[in-house]
Amino acid sequence: MTTETRFNLTQADLPKFWYNINADSPVKPAPVLHPGTKEPVTPDFLSVLFPMDLILQEISTERYIEIPEEVREIYKLWRPTPLIRAARLEKELGTPAHIYFKYEGASPVGSHKSNTAIPQAFYNKIAGTHAMTTETGAGQWGTALAMACNYFDLDLEVYMVKVSYGQKPYRRIFMETFGAQVFASPTDRTQYGRSLLAENPENPGSLGIAISEAVEVAALSEGKKKYGLGSVLHHVLLHQSVIGEESLKQMDMAGEYPDVVIGCVGGGSNFAGIAFPFLRENLKNGQRTRLLAVEPTATPSLTKGVYTFDYGDTAQMAPIVKMHTLGHTFMPPGIHAGGLRYHGMAPTLSALYDAGLVEAVAVKQKATFEAAVQFTKAEGFIPAPESAHAIRAAIDEALDAKAKGEKRVILFNLSGHGHFDMVSYERYLHEGLEDYEYPAEAVQDAMKDLPQVSL
Ligand SMILES: *Cc1c(COP(=O)(O)O)cnc(C)c1O
Repeated sequence: MTTETRFNLTQADLPKFWYNINADSPVKPAPVLHPGTKEPVTPDFLSVLFPMDLILQEISTERYIEIPEEVREIYKLWRPTPLIRAARLEKELGTPAHIYFKYEGASPVGSHKSNTAIPQAFYNKIAGTHAMTTETGAGQWGTALAMACNYFDLDLEVYMVKVSYGQKPYRRIFMETFGAQVFASPTDRTQYGRSLLAENPENPGSLGIAISEAVEVAALSEGKKKYGLGSVLHHVLLHQSVIGEESLKQMDMAGEYPDVVIGCVGGGSNFAGIAFPFLRENLKNGQRTRLLAVEPTATPSLTKGVYTFDYGDTAQMAPIVKMHTLGHTFMPPGIHAGGLRYHGMAPTLSALYDAGLVEAVAVKQKATFEAAVQFTKAEGFIPAPESAHAIRAAIDEALDAKAKGEKRVILFNLSGHGHFDMVSYERYLHEGLEDYEYPAEAVQDAMKDLPQVSL
């Protein structure tokens, strides 16, 4: 044990390989199905949307995949990220537990999303793509891809959920600063968007709708434009493994090993990023770390969703995958953690949860902000509302350890900073934030729209 509280690696420690859990996972991912035929997709279908290198990573079972030098060079702008012991928070809680966090808010755009944005833009560039399309909710992913496309000289169209476009002008301006074009979705640029606007010109949009628009533009571009997704897909989870690989080394510097590793889950990528390298140690090296995914009670796809085949988007244009889902027609309540408002969950993570190798818990919005404020006052960093879900669970673990008089080592991922989320904090501090209960009826309705799949 040391009295140090910051564990910094040098650039020489930057991982040279991404870790692929599918090499070691005892559960095989289900096939990905074509949204029209509902038969397993061919690489041809996927190649309309993605460059071949990413498709091969999507289905790879190779344990380690080399990170291209061009990608590592850009990672060096902010990686390795710090791992910090939250000693002041421990003291404030009066817990014998030790709390560590990995700070992904250190990236230039403020979240873990750039870990996958950079390689996605890189593989598109070397495949001859001219432009990318994507969607963004709260704007974190759009900003990360805007930075990446700027570095690799690719044009970028971002379909931003209309309510966020109105509420988060600073994220939009950040994207535009990198040279991206940002549209409030639903737009009149796509068939799907026009059909929705004809029904209701005031449609506030949703992540599922924005995905459909970005996919439609890429699919109809005759190969000029490709689509990028910021979570859910296996190659995205793979790229995020740098978080866990660095954390393993940093916990070693701290002279400790985590009993529990925690991350918030929207589509599952930052959690997978920190947790899967620790899962490898469980599966291969006899460690027994608990891996805890944290979701909002308003969109509880792991704890309340059904593990079944469903579309990745609202318009049924994206592939059908087997995942924990609340139904692709489910409209999530307007919680402040926009990045966690998704009906599904990464298939890779869903399979591991179903097999009992990963745990999950759902937490309420107010208790989450309470944890965020407590953390900010103790440690100084203000977290994104998404990341605050992980903090809620970490504090609960620390209090449980206190009640039981246990020394527990807790590690959580602080997936992003909250500098663009002040309006959400304002609501919490001054306007009385609402708690959303589990929207059971809306989910039951959405379950009626699941695709009928004969597998
Ligand atoms: C997007 C986002 C999330 C949720 O996405 P995952 O793929 O589940 O990681 C969490 N935290 C932040 C800061 C985000 O931007």
